[in-house]
Amino acid sequence: MTEVRPNSCGRPELPVPSIVDYRPVSTLVTAEHKVPRAKFPVVDYHGHPQQLLNTPEGLASLIKSLDSLNVRLMMVADAMTGDRLKRAADAINASPYRDRVRVLAGLSLQGVGSPGWSERAVAQLEADVKAGAVGVGEIMKGFGLSIRKADGSRLRIDDPALEPLWEACARLNLPVFIHTADPAEFFQPIDYKNERWLELSLFGDRRYQSEQYPRFEELIAERDHLFKSHPKIKFITAHLGWQANDLGTFSKLLDAAPNVYSEVGAVLYDLGRQPRAAHDFLVKYQDRILFGKDSFQPEEYPYYWRVFETRDEYFDYYRPYHAFWKLYGLDLPDVVLKKLYYQNALKLTPAAPQSGWPR
Ligand SMILES: [Zn+2]
Repeated sequence: MTEVRPNSCGRPELPVPSIVDYRPVSTLVTAEHKVPRAKFPVVDYHGHPQQLLNTPEGLASLIKSLDSLNVRLMMVADAMTGDRLKRAADAINASPYRDRVRVLAGLSLQGVGSPGWSERAVAQLEADVKAGAVGVGEIMKGFGLSIRKADGSRLRIDDPALEPLWEACARLNLPVFIHTADPAEFFQPIDYKNERWLELSLFGDRRYQSEQYPRFEELIAERDHLFKSHPKIKFITAHLGWQANDLGTFSKLLDAAPNVYSEVGAVLYDLGRQPRAAHDFLVKYQDRILFGKDSFQPEEYPYYWRVFETRDEYFDYYRPYHAFWKLYGLDLPDVVLKKLYYQNALKLTPAAPQSGWPR
């Protein structure tokens, strides 16, 4: 049954399609401006090129894709460390593309609390920086959600045992790129009011309803405490902190902690459904937000350019199971686009290639 008049329900006479079958085609005729290449060169701070780094041919094909999108620099956020990181950094340096890719280092969070852990973890980070890492990242979502300490308890994001590692990040002047939690809906009951019901049904590993997981609010509180208690470290919280659907709350963190930056990967559906609020947010915090894409699918980047650069209305998002709604362009001014696309990333990352960018 469904409401057809106030307080009056009707039953559809035709067979009701399932959620995966109903795909109405919009009849709206309006201006379309596809944007295959970004207007200014871009730093992708949330790169996961994975196996493309392993061979010269893979690297060449990565660069070819990045060229077609106008992404000039990719930060590899695969949390590499040790030999793996050194191999990747050496391969990039030996290639013709040395200024096109940089690597971030993962932190060794396993075994926190066991004897000698902090000395080993700090020494590893120092070695990774020597090998070419220009920052820390991505600290993956398991931090807070599932990583355990040596005694079996959950490693809290603001656990004091991590202090030596944070001190090292501050001393080495490394930006720290950190993914905390996941969309709040992943922690909520999986019912027909949940905006991510279809996604939760498709992906079993995104369900955090059971007791073994902390609540979303708990993770956010620990994260904010970590950020506020380490003002010397520049933190970049991935995915707009998973608060792009509540920019007012997220703004409070940015206002309270000037050392906090963020990145827009995988939350385009939330910016594009509130074009006026998202425009004003990105203008107000224009010095604090970086571009990042996350999952490396070259055909998905142009959706970001279109949302950021155009005034287009009511167009599709690239993953129907994330968002049952359409997107709208934010029409950001050039000065904001440049900061979002590359200037903020370069400022935060002194070891990134700094020359040859437009002024
Ligand atoms: Zn990531």
